[in-house]
Amino acid sequence: MKQNKKQVFIIGGGASGLAAAIFAARAGASVTVLEKEKKPGRKLLRTGNGRCNLANLGPLEGNYHGLHPEFARFVLKTFSREKLFAFFEEIGIRTRDCGGWIYPASETAESVLACLLLAARELSVRIRTNVCVKTIRKQNGRFLIDVGGYVYTADRVILSAGSRASLEPSGENEALAIAAAFGHRILPIHPALTALTVEDSKAFGFAGVRIRGKIRLFADGKLFHEERGQLQFTEYGISGIPVFNGSSEAVKALAAGKQVAAEADLFPDMEETLFISYLKERFERLKERSVQEKLTGLLPDKMIAAILREPGSPEQLAARIRHFPMTVNGFKGMKYAQVMGGGVDTDEIDPATMASKITEGLYICGELLDIDGACGGYNLMFAFAGGAAAGTAQGDY
Ligand SMILES: Cc1cc2nc3c(=O)[nH]c(=O)nc-3n(C[C@H](O)[C@H](O)[C@H](O)COP(=O)(O)OP(=O)(O)OC[C@H]3O[C@@H](n4cnc5c(N)ncnc54)[C@H](O)[C@@H]3O)c2cc1C
Repeated sequence: MKQNKKQVFIIGGGASGLAAAIFAARAGASVTVLEKEKKPGRKLLRTGNGRCNLANLGPLEGNYHGLHPEFARFVLKTFSREKLFAFFEEIGIRTRDCGGWIYPASETAESVLACLLLAARELSVRIRTNVCVKTIRKQNGRFLIDVGGYVYTADRVILSAGSRASLEPSGENEALAIAAAFGHRILPIHPALTALTVEDSKAFGFAGVRIRGKIRLFADGKLFHEERGQLQFTEYGISGIPVFNGSSEAVKALAAGKQVAAEADLFPDMEETLFISYLKERFERLKERSVQEKLTGLLPDKMIAAILREPGSPEQLAARIRHFPMTVNGFKGMKYAQVMGGGVDTDEIDPATMASKITEGLYICGELLDIDGACGGYNLMFAFAGGAAAGTAQGDY
């Protein structure tokens, strides 16, 4: 029988922190969550437009970014999707598969948070809100957690304080500074799952267009991202899931001083040579009409105007429709991003337990780590799995 329960403190009551709390308490620890905000899980409530896209059944490879993207695969190997779905069911979250994107059957993020909090309460997890952890140091084998005016003492600490993505840029990310103070390497942070700004976007006049197309992104002429889906054209540039998913690499390429270009394929459903023939035949058939009228009914009006900024033969217009060129000159900042790229170097974290390889008794999980995932549940899946792994590891004494 265990004697004194270990005191495990969890910094941040978001997706990864609440999962960590439940698993640590199940493992026999005495668990306290310290949460900066008035209530835990604020970001969780905003996920999936309030529906909370919990996980994804798609491939892991290619859907995570970071210096060591394979780290996410290792975490999800130890704490697999099957284990995650079993956990969701155990705590009351019935899931539903919507084409590989996993949502709660209730379709509400509120119910996901409620089930996490109910499970935490059933396990006597203490959740202290309005408590911002400022610094943590280790003394005589124990952690001293300074919350500004009060110091908690813990045997172990799980850092799960997420990022400032989608929040006001003025705030601090104390947890990154804490990890750095323990000697962890912090890779430069940047927005991910964000929109890209495009040179001359206003002149294109395409703001408001939404079209099912394909985006291709290039750095110094080399293709690095290609994805079909709904593209959104805005006053400042391009957005939509296919753009978001390429944004992490685009932001890094821009930071490295590379030329980033985008190409929108506005009619990806037809093989390209067939499309040229089709356009020629269409132009011949509708020869009484103006060029703009010939394209009406094929593409949104604003997109036709953008394409016809440079008039040309049917072949040239077909090329512009299939390879609409844009120069990417920037990106929307952290406030507009769904996640943070960069963060704690995963090389210094054990993916089976999320234990720091530098400081014994310290664990780091969730978005604080240098991993950012694709849209579709990849980020929450990584946060939950990492939190569960860190929590489970609290049973090893
Ligand atoms: C609008 C939006 C929609 C999203 N939709 C999805 C989606 O549908 N699917 C998906 O997979 N991902 C989605 N994401 C991403 C996902 O929400 C995050 O990746 C995930 O929440 C990260 O979990 P986390 O536990 O690491 O961090 P968080 O959930 O952000 O939790 C961290 C917690 O730590 C607290 N904290 C921070 N600093 C301190 C401190 N110093 N002391 C105490 N507490 C602190 C914070 O207040 C916060 O509650 C979305 C993100 C946004 C912004």
